[in-house]
Amino acid sequence: MGATRRTVLGAAAALPLVGCSRPAPIIVVGAGVFGAWTAEHLRRKGKAVLLVDQMGPANARASSGGESRMTRGTYGRDEIYTRMARASLEEWKRLSDRSALPLFHDAGVLFCFQEMIDYARDSIAVHERLGLPLQNIANAALGQRWPQMNFEGIEFGLFEPEFGALMARRAVEETVARFVEQGGTYVLAHATPSESGRGLLLDGAPADAEAIVWACGPWLPKVFPAVLGERIFVTRQEVAFIAPPDGDDSFEASHLPGWADFNGGDLYYGFPNLEGRGFKIARDTHGEHFDPDTGDRRMSDTGAASLRAFAERRFPGLAGRPFTEFRVCQYENSSNGDFLIDRHPSLEGAYLLGGGSGHGFKHGPEVGRMMAELVADGTAPDARFSLASKQTVQARSVL
Ligand SMILES: Cc1cc2nc3c(=O)[nH]c(=O)nc-3n(C[C@H](O)[C@H](O)[C@H](O)COP(=O)(O)OP(=O)(O)OC[C@H]3O[C@@H](n4cnc5c(N)ncnc54)[C@H](O)[C@@H]3O)c2cc1C
Repeated sequence: MGATRRTVLGAAAALPLVGCSRPAPIIVVGAGVFGAWTAEHLRRKGKAVLLVDQMGPANARASSGGESRMTRGTYGRDEIYTRMARASLEEWKRLSDRSALPLFHDAGVLFCFQEMIDYARDSIAVHERLGLPLQNIANAALGQRWPQMNFEGIEFGLFEPEFGALMARRAVEETVARFVEQGGTYVLAHATPSESGRGLLLDGAPADAEAIVWACGPWLPKVFPAVLGERIFVTRQEVAFIAPPDGDDSFEASHLPGWADFNGGDLYYGFPNLEGRGFKIARDTHGEHFDPDTGDRRMSDTGAASLRAFAERRFPGLAGRPFTEFRVCQYENSSNGDFLIDRHPSLEGAYLLGGGSGHGFKHGPEVGRMMAELVADGTAPDARFSLASKQTVQARSVL
């Protein structure tokens, strides 16, 4: 991606900031998956767009950083996310087809259930309604199809053959690179809000905008403490990679899908050995409060032990295999898991975008489209993405 990085940074030379005769651009602050796709959709609408990030697209501290993200349509009764995942996947696939390296691995996704629960029942109904492929596989057949997994205690699995894994950092970098190639501008800078919704400081220098979208992910509570300090909950999340047995192809994406295990409500999920990185495993339960600037990104001993124990129980072939890598990232949760796509409540011309809540990556293209329509056309998205719907008490309902 060296060439991509150079292209992106090269565009900074043409910055249309203050005091120039051209019309002020729309500024999008934050080149994570939400900001990158918002910038791209605004550009497609013919807008002059300046995308800004303090550390780079999908950087190591951003929630969009890291190797892989699952894309799936199973969302229980929350059909809106199934629709968004499906529409977004089309964009991801188009981008992946044009990219030198794959952005999407169509490995499929398997959700394992200990018993029939509403989430599974509702997912089946939504997929039938939308005509989305979903295979309901009983325990015995699961074992035959994926013999590298131990399905003890699992009653059935729901398998989505058309979904899989997105290569997260690479996908965001590619989105930004395309945006720049097509005429958008990207610059590395730290942004600070001002008292006007259409003004801000970029590395301390004032800049004017037609509108400003603040897509700052886990930094949103710091950027707007009065509005979002108690409405976005940033939590520490730990991820581990384990080396599969040498020469064993049963952990490759050709033989193993992305998977999630409800595990009685304490959900674990992971990926096959994508591009030789190792078998990935993580626990979806929200961790403790985390500061994206100062939080300690070293893996905890208890986290590593619990991920190893789960991996070895469900995937016996991984017993004793070494960890290859750890990552500590953060979720930026809204009160219930619904995204935030809205105007700032008091700053005219400013918009708030975030609340990805541990499941936002796959939806980047659709979230960006919705925010671009709000900014450019005044079209409000679904009410569940409004600021008014965001509470100050965490009560997760979207999974
Ligand atoms: C461990 C983990 C696993 C996940 N798994 C999945 C999954 O399997 N599937 C899925 O769909 N989703 C998943 N997610 C969720 C998904 O990754 C996030 O919801 C999504 O990446 C959020 O993107 P964002 O653009 O809102 O935030 P970010 O990616 O954090 O982007 C915000 C950007 O804003 C920049 N910024 C902040 N403040 C400023 C400022 N003042 N000036 C300039 N720039 C600024 C930051 O540098 C950053 O780049 C996971 C998340 C984590 C952490």
